[in-house]
Order: sequence, then structure tokens, then C-alpha cells
Amino acid sequence: MLRFFNTLTRQQEEFHPLEDSKVRMYICGPTVWNFAHIGNFRTFVFGDILRRYLKYKGYDVTHVFNLTDIDDRIINEAAKRNITIDEFTAPYITYFWEDFDALGNERPEVTPRATHHIQEMIDIIAKLIANDHAYESEGSIYYRIAAFPEYGKLSKINFSGNITGGSERIDTDKYEKEDARDFALWKLVGEDEEPGWDAPFGRGRPGWHIECSAMSMKYLGETFDIHAGGMDLQFPHHENEIAQSEGATGKQFARYWIHSEFLKIDDVTMSKSKGNFFTFRDLREQGYSALAIRYLLLSVPTRKQLNFTFEGLQGAESTVERLRNFRQLVKEAKTGPGSDETIAAKITGAVVEFERSMDDDFNTAAALAAIHDLVREINTLMSGDRLLSDDRAAVLEAIKRFDSVLGIFGNEEAEILDTEIEALIDERNEARRNRNFARSDEIRDLLSEKGIILEDTKDGVRWKRK
Ligand code: AMP
Ligand code: ZN
Repeated sequence: MLRFFNTLTRQQEEFHPLEDSKVRMYICGPTVWNFAHIGNFRTFVFGDILRRYLKYKGYDVTHVFNLTDIDDRIINEAAKRNITIDEFTAPYITYFWEDFDALGNERPEVTPRATHHIQEMIDIIAKLIANDHAYESEGSIYYRIAAFPEYGKLSKINFSGNITGGSERIDTDKYEKEDARDFALWKLVGEDEEPGWDAPFGRGRPGWHIECSAMSMKYLGETFDIHAGGMDLQFPHHENEIAQSEGATGKQFARYWIHSEFLKIDDVTMSKSKGNFFTFRDLREQGYSALAIRYLLLSVPTRKQLNFTFEGLQGAESTVERLRNFRQLVKEAKTGPGSDETIAAKITGAVVEFERSMDDDFNTAAALAAIHDLVREINTLMSGDRLLSDDRAAVLEAIKRFDSVLGIFGNEEAEILDTEIEALIDERNEARRNRNFARSDEIRDLLSEKGIILEDTKDGVRWKRK
């Protein structure tokens, strides 16, 4: 039974979706004003693990993951360059998906953009005005927190006094508001100012929080199962999403909330504004593999902070190399027929332990430990040629199961067996003897695509895996 910590109740809870076999989940995506850094990707890789594990458990998952393509930073940067916000965000959206895919994440079912959902935001704001949860002031529309007594139920912040924040993004234009805590739903924009959209309550542009209420409820319904995002979003972003959505519908919004802890560097939160960040591309350029970066990001359970170090990343590099080699060795191992009862039980035990760990608040560290224990056991057997063929099949099946959730063993289709490499090298030698250099180059390229490097030495051709 899957159990995890629900920020809303501050308890570990058994997970029961609204509909037996279906999970509806929403994860706040990136603001596409720059390259995402690996702190952002820690949260998004967790989102991927979450969706994959729910699928592993047999649920039919609808995962909505938005792109914030309008905010003050985007508007300012576009204005500086004298281009539209679409022109400004387009390349960052492309880069984002390139990095997201390269990190081995599965694409969510729905990836809506804020600027494509302005009408849905206007509709919610109109409802909130109609039921007195929102008001107009100097042309902008604000949420009236006094109309939502449950405000604070997610973050558990005590709102007696004039607390406005904890976030850089909170509105500071409080002089226009009835109450300092009230936040902007719709910001007044002049007739000839861009970007701006016409609404029954005046030309303007949306505040930040309303987009996630609009896009989540559009694709998942007014009440849905899981809402996740980074720790910093708990307040005010998620608190405000609840106020907007429940204020408009009168129904519970998300039932389970999961917040990922930060990736830190030298014990300081990695962030754009602090300048202490690495993008995925920075690390790739330094020669680290996407697989190692993914491994590092998921190696610590999401509710624990992860301190980024290059030693840690180097360690992850060796670990993924070991895992990849392990699968290869298992495929190529010399085996006798049948199965050994003790070994078969160990393999099943590793799968059970993997699931038990993931069921326990997505404890990826314990899940990885179960995998490494199995790898050690099987390596010992293989070194004495004692692995039997049915057990070999069971190990390969277990790896498939682990990797359907974690995605750390690398792409199997791209892999090539030692025997296949040697056959291609023989063919290349033959082609060269026949002065068929086109074919010989083709084979070298093919092997290179599969990560095999050839070295022509005086003793013949040597090969190694990249
Ligand atoms: P943003 O692009 O700023 O909207 O952030 C995208 C996501 O990354 C949000 O869910 C943030 O909470 C998350 N995030 C930002 N910095 C970090 C960090 N250092 N570690 C983990 N998650 C982060
Ligand atoms: Zn959001």
C-alpha cells in the first residue's frame, strides 16, 4: 500500500485516489524565462518518479504540468529586447523540453501554457468577484482573503498580524488592498500596453497564482488527487491556489499535496537570483552524463534536502556505469540451466524491498540500496560462473521493473552486446581489406552512436565503451 506525506494534513497517509484505478495529478512547471537549473530539475525528476511509480502500481495517470510563460521577469526581458513575450519564451521552451527529455523524464499527458488559458483564468476571477471573494481596486482585481477563513490551511502559517510573504514573488503593492495579505488576481494594463487581455472587469494581465487554478481544474476537474511542486511554492503560491479554487467552486481542490525539498549547493538553496546554480547544460558541457545527473537528483528522497557536490556527481557517474555494465554482464553471462531456489528468492526479495521502499513516502535511497544489494549478490555469482539461466531471466526482469520507475540503467535499445561489436569490427576489417572505406566509416559511425570507441593500434583494432 502506497503511503506518503501529505503537506495538507502533515501526516503520512495511505493513498486512495478519487477513482479506483485513475490518478489525476498536477505539478507546477517552470517559468520559461531562462534555462532551468538542476534544482528545478530535482523537483521535476521527482515528478517523473511519482508518475512512473503510480503507473507501476497499475494506475492510469493523467499528469498535468504547466509552463509559466508570463510573469514580470518575462515581460521585462521581452520589453528590453523589443520582442513579444512569445518570441522571448519560444527558445526557452524548446531548451526546457530538450533538457527534460535528455534527463529521461516521460512527457506528461498535458503540458499547458499560461498564455493559452487566459479565458479560463478570467472565468474563475469572474466567479470570485460574483461571490465576493474578489474585489476591484484602482483597476486591478484582488483576492479577498477575509472571505476565505481556511486561508493558511496548507502552509499552517499563523496570519494574525500583517504577514505578506516569505516569497520574492509576493505582491508588495499593498496600499491598494483592503488587507495586506490580499493578492492580485488581475493586474490593470493600459489600453496601448502589452501584454494585456480584455476581460469584463477591464484590460489586464493575470497574477501568477491564478494560472495553476485555471489549468489544473480545466484538465483534472474541480477536485483532483495530487498536487506537487517545490517547497518554496507551498506559500504563497499553493495556499493561494487553494483559496482561488475552493473560493470559486466551494469544493475541495487537491486532496494530497507533495512538496519537494531543495537542492542546495554549499548548504545554500540553489537559485537563479542567488547566482549559485548549474544548469543541466553546464554539467553536460563539463562531461557529466545525463544519466548520472538524473541518478544524483533522485538518490535522496524528495522530502530531504540534497547538497550538490561534484564528488557526489562523480560518484553517481561511476554508479550508473556500474549498473549499465551489470546489465550487460548479466546478458552475456555463461549460465547453466534451471534456477537456484535461494537465488530466485533473493531476486524476488529485492523487488519486494524496492516496492516496500517506494511505498514508504517514495524512499528512493532505500529502493536504490535494494538494487545495489542485488547487484552485489549476482556479481559474486557471475564471477564464479554460477548464475543459472532462469535466474538470469529473473534478474533482467527485475532490472526492467526497477528501471520503469527510476530510469537509471540507460536506454537498452541503444545498447550493443560485446559479440555484436566484435562481429562489426570483423566486418569493418574485411571492408578495409577490400578498400571499401565507405562501409568501414559507416561501421565506425554506427559503433560511435552506440557509445563504442575504436582505436586502430599496431596490434589491430581495440574498442571500448565511452
Ligand atoms: P520556477 O521555474 O522558478 O517557477 O521553478 C520551478 C520549480 O522548481 C518549482 O517547483 C520550484 O519550487 C522548484 N525549485 C526551484 N529551486 C529549487 C531548488 N533549489 N531545489 C529544488 N527545487 C527547486
Ligand atoms: Zn503553480
